[in-house]
Amino acid sequence: MKDGLIITLDGPAGAGKSSVSRHLAKHLGYTYVDTGAMYRAIALAADRAGVSWDAPEALAPLLKTLTIEFRQVEGDNHIFLNGKDVASSIRTPHISSGASKVSAHGVVREHLLGFQRSLGERGGAIFEGRDTGTVVFPKADLKLYIDASSRTRAERRYKQLGEPEELSIDDLQREIETRDEADKSRKIAPLCCPEDAVVIDTSELRFDEVIQEILGHIQGKLQPVG
Ligand code: C5P
Repeated sequence: MKDGLIITLDGPAGAGKSSVSRHLAKHLGYTYVDTGAMYRAIALAADRAGVSWDAPEALAPLLKTLTIEFRQVEGDNHIFLNGKDVASSIRTPHISSGASKVSAHGVVREHLLGFQRSLGERGGAIFEGRDTGTVVFPKADLKLYIDASSRTRAERRYKQLGEPEELSIDDLQREIETRDEADKSRKIAPLCCPEDAVVIDTSELRFDEVIQEILGHIQGKLQPVG
């Protein structure tokens, strides 16, 4: 017997997936699983160990030495790599592009797949990523796909980063478009919208409007049929 729905939320970088997933998880009392943070943690570990992001044969032995887990820190879900909180170290543009590179390798994706599925065994969880509705949970109770224009996404990311002088919105937009292209065109588990997903374009919607729309879909799934 499961303790709630499995909800997947996929989409391109910066569409608002994290804030929406975090909010919904808190609201519903569900577990929030940020699968992107796992790829970021692997990219960080490789960077620190001097292992190339483009070399799956060198990444494979490194993966065996890593422990990745989530722990609650001040009410927020933080990712720990080998026992250390790396929640902020993984949020740099350098590690973003590393995550996109390591995530293209089958050995990395397979390594994480079992772990990701195990976190959903009891239900009551929201999985955020690129392939959570297509590959990780093809039978999820509710699949969401969140999108927005690349300009809107770059502007939001810029604000999120505290409007740093050394970065421009144009740079961020380029970085986002390059990452989208790599994520959509890779051979294994490319970013794509699951056929049976509810698609929400957040470009013109306020945060609370997005949440209301999704809660409507969740209600529909929770209501007993007949
Ligand atoms: O979501 P986030 O931007 O943190 O993801 C970082 C990178 O990890 C993405 O650009 C993508 O390449 C990869 N990723 C993935 N599959 C997922 C989640 C993230 O390939 N389910």
